[in-house]
Amino acid sequence: MKLKCIKCGKEYSLDDVRYRCDCGGLLEVTQKELPGPQIVSVWDSRLGSKKAVDQSGVWRYREMVLDEENPVTFPEGKTNLYTLPVRKGLFAKHEGENPTGSFKDRGMTAGITFAKKLGFRAVACASTGNTSASMAAYAARAGLKAIVFLPSGKVAAGKLAQALAYGSTIFEINGDFDDAMRIVVNISQDMGIYLLNSLNPVRLEGQKTIVIDMLSQLDWEPPDWIIVPGGNLGNTSAFGKALRELKMAGIIEKLPRIATIQAEGASPFYKSFKNGFKSFEPMKAETVATAIRIGNPVNFEKAKNSIIFTNGVVESVSDREILEAKVSLDSAGIGVEPASAATHAGLRKLEQSGIIKPHEKVVLVLTGNLLKDPDIVKRIHSNEIEGFERFKDQIIKVNPELDEIKSRLREVIQ
Ligand SMILES: *Cc1c(COP(=O)(O)O)cnc(C)c1O
Repeated sequence: MKLKCIKCGKEYSLDDVRYRCDCGGLLEVTQKELPGPQIVSVWDSRLGSKKAVDQSGVWRYREMVLDEENPVTFPEGKTNLYTLPVRKGLFAKHEGENPTGSFKDRGMTAGITFAKKLGFRAVACASTGNTSASMAAYAARAGLKAIVFLPSGKVAAGKLAQALAYGSTIFEINGDFDDAMRIVVNISQDMGIYLLNSLNPVRLEGQKTIVIDMLSQLDWEPPDWIIVPGGNLGNTSAFGKALRELKMAGIIEKLPRIATIQAEGASPFYKSFKNGFKSFEPMKAETVATAIRIGNPVNFEKAKNSIIFTNGVVESVSDREILEAKVSLDSAGIGVEPASAATHAGLRKLEQSGIIKPHEKVVLVLTGNLLKDPDIVKRIHSNEIEGFERFKDQIIKVNPELDEIKSRLREVIQ
C-alpha cells in the first residue's frame, strides 16, 4: 500500500506524514489487489464472530481498508438499511446509527488507528461539528489528545456537547469552516499533530465501507443511484473509489450512479458540475444544514472523478426543501439532521426533472442523527420557521385537570 497523487501519479510511502503531493495534488491510498469475488464469503463469515474487529462494519471489510487486526474501534458501522414506504425501491442507509451519531466514525476508526500506529500523541481537525465529535471520542478511546477548530456559533448543540464531553480542546474560530480548515492544515504540519480531516486519505479508506456495507446488505445487487449530501466531498470521493475497487475485483459489474446534493447556499461543486467541471469557484457558504456549510471543499478533484466515473450528477436544494425533506424523514420515525435530509430533497428534485426514473432503485445515505441538532427541531415544531405552521398545535399546554385534558384529547383522536 502506498500514497499516490491523483494528479501526477507520484508515489509516497503510506507512512509518510503528508496530505498532499509535492505538486499540490490530492493523495489517495493504493490498495493491494483483492483476491476476487470469493472475498465476500470471508466478509460474511465474520458476521458470526464475537471479536470487535469482525463485528465492526468497517473492519469486517479490512482487506479494503487497512491491514489491521487491532484497530481502535467501538465497533462502528453496523448501520441499518431501511426501506422507505414513500416510494418503491427506495432505501436509506442510516449512518446516524454510528456510535457518535454520524458516518464520520467510519473514517475516524481508520484515521485514529493509523495515527496511533505512526506514534502521534495529538490529533486535530477543523469541523462543522461531526468530525470533532467523532475524533474526540476515538482519541479518548486511544488515549490521544484531541484538538478541534470550530467556526464560532455555527456548530449544532449536540455536536458541540460531544466534543466537550469527550474531552477535546476546542479552538473556537471567529470565522467559518473554510477559515478553520486553512488554519488546521497549516498548524498540523508545523506542530507535529496528525490531521484528521477528510483531506487525510486514510480516513476515506474507512468511509468507503458505507458503500461496501450497503452493497452487502443488498446482496451485491447495486442500486441505480446512491444519493449523498456534499460538503467537503469526502464521501463522494470515497464512494467512487470503493465502486472502482469493487468493480475491478469483479465483486460488482454494474456501477450505481452517484448523486451528490448540496445546499444552494453552499454549492460550489454543483456550480462547477453545471459548467461541465470547466472551472471551480469557492464561495462564502450559508445554509441551515450546518454540516455542509462549506464553500471551498478540499476533496473537489477526487469528487469530480467520482461523478465522472459513475456517470453521476450534482444537484442543489434550498434550505426550505431540506427542512421539508427532514420533516418527511423524521415523521417516518427515521430521524436525521438537516444535511442528511438534503438527499431526500435531492431525490424529489431529480425525479421531477426526469433524471431519476420512478422504477429505479435508490439508496439515500443518511449521514447524521436527529439528536445532533435539536434546536432546528424545536424551531420547526414551535412555529418559529415560516411554512411549518401546521405544527403549531403539536404541543398542547394544559392544567393538570382531567376534564380539560379529556376534552382536548377528543379533538386529537377524532
Ligand atoms: C460531514 C458531514 C457531511 C458532509 O460530508 P462530506 O464527506 O464532507 O461531503 C454531511 N452530513 C453530515 C451529517 C456530516 O457530518
